[in-house]
Amino acid sequence: MKIYADNAATTKMSKTAVNAMIPYFDEVYGNPSSLHTSGQKAAEALYNARESISIILNCHPREITFTSGGSEADNQAIVSAAKIGERKGKKHIISTAFEHHAVLHTLQKLENQGFEVELLDVGEFGLVTAEQIKNAIREDTCLVTVMYANNEIGSVQPIAEIGAVCHEKGVLFHTDAVQAAGHLAIDVQAQNIDMLSLSAHKFHGPKGIGVLYARKGIVLSNIIEGGAQERGKRAGTENIPAIMGMAAALEEANEHINENTAKLIKLRDRLIEGFSEISHSILNGDREKRLPSNVHFCFEGIEGESLLLLLDAKGICASSGSACTSGSLDPSHVLLSIGRVHEIAHGSLRLSLDENTTENEVEYIIQSVREVVEYLRKMSPLWHDKISGRKNFILK
Ligand SMILES: *Cc1c(COP(=O)(O)O)cnc(C)c1O
Repeated sequence: MKIYADNAATTKMSKTAVNAMIPYFDEVYGNPSSLHTSGQKAAEALYNARESISIILNCHPREITFTSGGSEADNQAIVSAAKIGERKGKKHIISTAFEHHAVLHTLQKLENQGFEVELLDVGEFGLVTAEQIKNAIREDTCLVTVMYANNEIGSVQPIAEIGAVCHEKGVLFHTDAVQAAGHLAIDVQAQNIDMLSLSAHKFHGPKGIGVLYARKGIVLSNIIEGGAQERGKRAGTENIPAIMGMAAALEEANEHINENTAKLIKLRDRLIEGFSEISHSILNGDREKRLPSNVHFCFEGIEGESLLLLLDAKGICASSGSACTSGSLDPSHVLLSIGRVHEIAHGSLRLSLDENTTENEVEYIIQSVREVVEYLRKMSPLWHDKISGRKNFILK
């Protein structure tokens, strides 16, 4: 069996998205900035893609800037808001402790430049409240940036409420919606969102392409300098094939969002039920307010890496949490932010499903994880200390 359950890291491209790209490699290959027919055909495609994405987000096409992905969109949104704030003498930024590194590292850079960054506590279940935001906003706050859904533990934030608080206080609101897109409805008007980041490869589109939505009137600062593409806000010849693939993938995901959600929730809940039967384990993230595709557990007494390798040997592609922290020995900042101690944080497993996951696959995953956790615990001296009472269990 070969099961891909790491869709939060990246997804397989859909056939629709692949097919939408192909003509733009070898038929319509002109540069959209060129005045000749070949260039204008590409410009027309670009126009149509921008429009179709803007309809889905409920914004104006001019409010969409194409970027190289979610990371660049996050960087540009935050740096732009900071520059706008700085001009008004406002240098306080509010975010959360468990944002993606594309956000956290950008904020760190700004901190080094004299901005004050306040990272809010996300509590045991990985949620911030609009109330917390309201209490944190000051006269000199220039930006609130809170992710829509967390990429590791899948918890979903009350974005519309947070946006409403920000608007009431006249503070710009950015959300990293990379994990939400394709799974949760996005409506920048109804949800009071000023800036939003998307990445195509998280919703069955191609890698290396994303969207920064910025409400009319927000002046973006360039991250990439050069030509006048994207109304002068993002230089570089537009990646037309990728943009076409992204638009097609987003349309497709949006069209099937309700049926996919219903299907995924059933599979997700079965996995949660199956894993909950493993002793000394804990679900990470909120039980209800979570992505339909996300299951994240910690198992006491095991190393996440060993678990992943053994699952891989059984044909299951999973993750310990973030693709970005694997390769480093530090425990995930997300798990630490919800209060997991180091020992527990090291024994983590994230499964992120997609609409092609089957019930059989889910049963196979449950069986495999049970076997592997039991096997690893049997081999662990620490586990034997706990079983014999020489050391205490941390999880029930
Ligand atoms: C994947 C991801 C990103 C980065 O997107 P890229 O397109 O890979 O740069 C940013 N934020 C979140 C929440 C993500 O999951």
